[in-house]
Amino acid sequence: MSLDIHADISLKPFNTFGVDVRARLFAEAHSDADVHEALAYAAEHRLEVLVIGGGSNLLLTRNVDALVLRMASRGVRIVREDCDMAIVEAEAGEPWHPFVQDMLARGLSGLENLSLIPGTVGAAPMQNIGAYGVELKDVFHSLTALDRETGEQREFDLAACAFGYRDSLFKHQPGRWLVLRVRFRLSYPARLNLDYGPVRQRLQEQGVTEPTPMHVSRAICAIRSEKLPDPAVLGNAGSFFKNPLVSAELAARIGEAHPGLVAYPQADGQVKLAAGWLIEQAGWRGYRDGDAGVHALQSLVLVNYGRATGRDLLNLAERIQTDVHARFGVTLEMEPNLY
Ligand code: FAD
Ligand code: NAP
Repeated sequence: MSLDIHADISLKPFNTFGVDVRARLFAEAHSDADVHEALAYAAEHRLEVLVIGGGSNLLLTRNVDALVLRMASRGVRIVREDCDMAIVEAEAGEPWHPFVQDMLARGLSGLENLSLIPGTVGAAPMQNIGAYGVELKDVFHSLTALDRETGEQREFDLAACAFGYRDSLFKHQPGRWLVLRVRFRLSYPARLNLDYGPVRQRLQEQGVTEPTPMHVSRAICAIRSEKLPDPAVLGNAGSFFKNPLVSAELAARIGEAHPGLVAYPQADGQVKLAAGWLIEQAGWRGYRDGDAGVHALQSLVLVNYGRATGRDLLNLAERIQTDVHARFGVTLEMEPNLY
């Protein structure tokens, strides 16, 4: 038996909101064997299991009466390579940003726009992480997951994951699939995506005329650091709401009433609205109620000034949802996973 199981542990260090709830049991899985041992233990003791990575997309609203299993498995290897590309496999517990930096240092491109996203490799497919015009699906090769219903391992290729906008098959079957490792298709020749928001402009300001993936990563890290609160300083889980996809008719109606509307037409005819803009227009920017608040620089981010509970943050989120719906007729969907 190699797994260390601890009783009655505070989860405050294990969620980036810094919410102080307790786990009935807590263990870290460093290998597939640890995962199997944890699941067997939980089955024997009739316990639920909550799998977590970096806790950066979680809102814990109560004590967790379960075995919390934190994925801490490590290992990165090239499983196939030619002169143009490499298939790289990383264990679920690998921290995301250091993994991105490792790939860039090896001359492999594709992940640069996803720099500085907190969390782990294993959680990245859950919501098909995305930023600055790139989503995980754009560099995804395949993954290995454990089916917790049958105990069998299964391989998922791109199509099987059913990735969508901050969405995947795994989000629709919560608790069923435990991701053990993920494989990425990365490229040696740089194929940069600079078209999103301020990336190109930032590179120009820095005097970079022939950007490399490393330049792009540094520019994105700088932009993110200026705008987003560092969870080590101010608790948060990044964007609290997804950007809503609405019909072209609704977007046009809102645009007539609010000429500054930030809207992006999609290939399928829908229009993506910037949720942060809607929240800001509704007057929530910088709002604070006790220790739960709306970040002053990015209204999409809810923050914990210290002692907010998960319930406080959820109440604030629900007030924002109700208000935005009343003003714009738009339903905002929460992004973090609630427990
Ligand atoms: P956790 O929060 O630990 O878990 C998230 C969910 O996945 C939970 O439901 C958990 O049960 C499940 N899970 C975790 N690991 C596994 C596994 N191995 N197998 C099965 N299920 C698992 N997200 C973006 O998409 N783009 C961004 O640009 C972005 N920026 C952020 C910036 C900040 C400052 C913060 C705090 C968050 C940001 N996020 C962003 C959200 C978050 O970082 C990502 O969603 C990240 O992938 C979550 O990883 P995690 O390991 O912390 O997952
Ligand atoms: P931003 O650049 O201020 O843009 C506001 C919103 O408009 C974004 O949410 C983005 O949608 C959308 N947008 C901007 N330019 C676009 C374009 N060219 N085409 C389509 N949509 C466009 O956003 P930000 O808050 O600073 O975040 C920058 C990037 O990091 C975004 O991609 C964002 O998703 C990502 N991010 C995500 C989280 C998270 O927790 N999920 C946290 C921080 C940052 P998209 O979000 O769809 O890209």
